[in-house]
Amino acid sequence: MSHTVSIMVQTPAHSAVAGPLTYLSDTPLAPGSLVRVPLGKRETLGVVWDPANARPEIAAHTGELRAVAGVLDGIAPLSAAWRRLVQFAAAYYQRAVGEVALAALPPQLRDLSAMQLGRRLKRAVPPSQADANSAINAATLSAEQAGVLAALHAQAGPFLLFGATGSGKTEVYLQAAQRLLEADPAAQALVMVPEINLTPQLEARFRARFEPRFGAAAVVAMHSGMTPPQRLRSWLSAHHGPLQGGARIVLGTRMAVFASLPRLRLIVVDEEHDPSYKQQEGARYSARDLAVYRSQLENSLAGPGAAVDQVHCRVLLGSATPSLESWHHSRPAAEGGRYVRLAMPSRIGAGALPRVRLVDMNLQQRKTVFSPQLVDAIRQRIARGEQSMVFLNRRGYAPVLSCSSCDWKSECPNCSAFRVFHKIDRSLRCHHCGFAERVPRACPNCGDPDIAPIGRGTERLEEHLAELLAGVERPGGGAVRIARIDADSTKLKGALESQLAQVHSGEVDVLVGTQMIAKGHDFRRITLVAAINPDGALFSSDFRAPERLFSLLMQAGGRAGRDAAHSAASEMWVQTSHPQHPLFAALQRHDYPRFAEGQIAERLTAGMPPFSFQALVRAEARTQEAAQAFLTLASAAAEPLPGAEHVTLYPAVPMTIQRVANIERAQMLLESPSRGALQKFLAAWQDVLRATRSAPEAKGMVRWAVDVDPQTI
Ligand code: ADP
Ligand code: ZN
Ligand code: ZN
Repeated sequence: MSHTVSIMVQTPAHSAVAGPLTYLSDTPLAPGSLVRVPLGKRETLGVVWDPANARPEIAAHTGELRAVAGVLDGIAPLSAAWRRLVQFAAAYYQRAVGEVALAALPPQLRDLSAMQLGRRLKRAVPPSQADANSAINAATLSAEQAGVLAALHAQAGPFLLFGATGSGKTEVYLQAAQRLLEADPAAQALVMVPEINLTPQLEARFRARFEPRFGAAAVVAMHSGMTPPQRLRSWLSAHHGPLQGGARIVLGTRMAVFASLPRLRLIVVDEEHDPSYKQQEGARYSARDLAVYRSQLENSLAGPGAAVDQVHCRVLLGSATPSLESWHHSRPAAEGGRYVRLAMPSRIGAGALPRVRLVDMNLQQRKTVFSPQLVDAIRQRIARGEQSMVFLNRRGYAPVLSCSSCDWKSECPNCSAFRVFHKIDRSLRCHHCGFAERVPRACPNCGDPDIAPIGRGTERLEEHLAELLAGVERPGGGAVRIARIDADSTKLKGALESQLAQVHSGEVDVLVGTQMIAKGHDFRRITLVAAINPDGALFSSDFRAPERLFSLLMQAGGRAGRDAAHSAASEMWVQTSHPQHPLFAALQRHDYPRFAEGQIAERLTAGMPPFSFQALVRAEARTQEAAQAFLTLASAAAEPLPGAEHVTLYPAVPMTIQRVANIERAQMLLESPSRGALQKFLAAWQDVLRATRSAPEAKGMVRWAVDVDPQTI
C-alpha cells in the first residue's frame, strides 16, 4: 500500500469538503479511473482525480488512510477534458466538485449495491453493425445550407446558426456531423435538444440517417425519461467510443453535456435559447454555456496551433430566435463579438413564413375567447382539409374556482397559489405542491352551490372550441376532430407519441395545447397557428419575459406553413389587448434582429445581462422572516470579501410564489459588471453562507442555493 490517490466521491451540497479525499492503493491509478472506495460504513463510487496539491499532514498519517476497494474494470478512465469540465462547472456554479462529478455519471453506475454491475457492463454494448455501403438519404442542400456548411468547416467558431423556422437547421446538423464522422472513424458528436421526449421525430431522423451508415449502435439518446439501465447503456456506449463498438452520436437533453465522449469533434445545441438548458436544482448549470466551454476545453487540450481545418471540436448553437446573450456574442468581431453568426433567413423550398394577424381584443364583445374572425379562419382551414393549431400556455380547465356569494377561491392550503380546476376528473390540483382534492359540491366557506371557474386553460379551450365548431363538416364527411396535447393529456407513457402521430397522419383537424406543441415539431399540414391570450408576459416583472414571449410566438408561428406547397396562405393569429405593443410589430415582420437590437439597447441602458452578470441566492425556511434574515445577515457580512466592491447585493425579497408546500421562500439578487468579480465574490461568500445557516436569527432555515446566471428572476 504505497500509493496515495486523490478520489472524488459524492459530496453533499454545500459541504465544506470541496476537494477529493485521499486513499491508499497498492498500484498507481490513472486519473479518471472509476473505483469503489469505503466511505463511512458503506462503499461508494469514486473517480480518481488529478493529484491534489501535496498535503504534508496527509503524508504523515498514511497509516490512518483507508484503501481503495477496487477498480471498475472494463471502463477506461474518464478523460482530462471531462474532469476539467466538471471542475469548471462546480467552481462556476458554486457547488462541490464531488457533487457535480458523481451527478454527471449514470445512476446505475453509482449504485454499487448492484453486484451484477460487472456483468451488466459487459452486456451493455451491443455489437456494431456498420455497413459503409448502405443508401444515405441526405437532401440536396439549399444554397443557404451549403453556405453555412462551408463556413462551418472553414472557420473555428463558436458558431451561432440563426436560421428561420423551417430553414433546414436540422439538415445542417446532420450533414455537419456526417462529414466529421466520415472523416475520422473515432470521431463523435454531441447533439443537444431542449426536450427530446417532445420531439421523437428528431431522434427518428438521426437514427434513419446514421444507423444504416455507422451501425445500429451509432446513435444513443440521453435524457431523464430513460430507465436507469437504458441510461447506463447509452453512457457506456458513448464512453467506449466507436473504436470499441460504441456510439458516434449522443442525442440528449442538458444532462448530455456531461457525457463522456473520448473523441468529441462537434457539439450542436439546437434551440439554444430554450430555458430548459438551465438546470434548476443541484448545480444550476447552463448546458448551452457549458457546451461552448467544453469545445474550447477540447481544443486547448488537443494541442495548440492547429490549423482551422484541424479544429478539434466545433460548437454550433442554433435558433430562429437566439438568446440575447448569444446574439450579442455574435455581433461583428470588430465590435467585440466572439461567435461567428451564420444566417439562413429563408424557408426550404421557397416556403413563406406565416402572415401574422393581430386581433384587437378591445374591439371584441366582453368575455370573447375566440374572436369570430379566428373561428371563421379555422373553419376555412377545415373546409380545405388543412390543420390548425391553437395554443394557450395554461393547462387544466380553469386556473381558479370561485364562489360568487362570498368570494371564496380555490387557494392551495400549502402554497401561496390557487389550485387549478381539472374538469376531466373533477379535481382541484395545485401545480406547485401537487395537493389534489375532489371539487367540493358547494362553497366550503358559505355553502352556496354556485361555485364557478374563472379564466381558462387548455381543457376549457378545447371544450369551447368543440362547441363553436359543432355542426361543421369535414370535406370527407364527419365531425371536426380536435385533439389536445399538454402535460395532462400526455401523462401516460407513449401518449404523446401516439397523439403526435395522429396529427402528422392528418387524423386531427385542430390541435389545442400548451407550449409543448409550439416548439420544434415539423408539422406538415398545419397552416394556421393561433395564440389565444399571450398578454400576461408583456407586463411580467421578469426582464426576460419579452424575449421569451417573442421566441415562443416565433416558434409557434414556425409550425405553420412548413410544407412549401401550402405556405403561401399560412397564418399566425395573435389575440391581444395590446396590438400596439412593439413586440407584435416586430413579430409581424418576422424581424428578430430588430426585436433583439431593441431589447439589447434597453438592457444596455439598464445595465442588465448581457451587460452585467447576476446571481440569485434563494433561501427556504419555515418562516419568511427566517429566510429573509438568513439572506440579510449573509449580505451584511459580505463587504470585506474579495470582489465585493464590484458586486451589488439587493435587499432580500419574498419570491413570486412565496410559499410552496408550506415552505417560505425568499431570494436576493447579486449583480456585477464583471463576471470575474462576481465569481471571486461568490466563492469567498460560500463560507459566510454556510456559517449564517446556523445563526439564531435564521432558525427554521431549510436550505439555500446559489443560482449563477439565473434565467428567471
Ligand atoms: P428547422 O430545424 O430549421 O426548423 P428542419 O431542419 O426541420 O428546419 O427542415 C424543415 C423541413 O425541410 C424538414 O421536413 C426537412 O426534412 C426539410 N428539408 C431540410 N433541408 C432540405 C433540403 N435541402 N431539401 C429538401 N428538404 C429539406
Ligand atoms: Zn362562498
Ligand atoms: Zn400547493
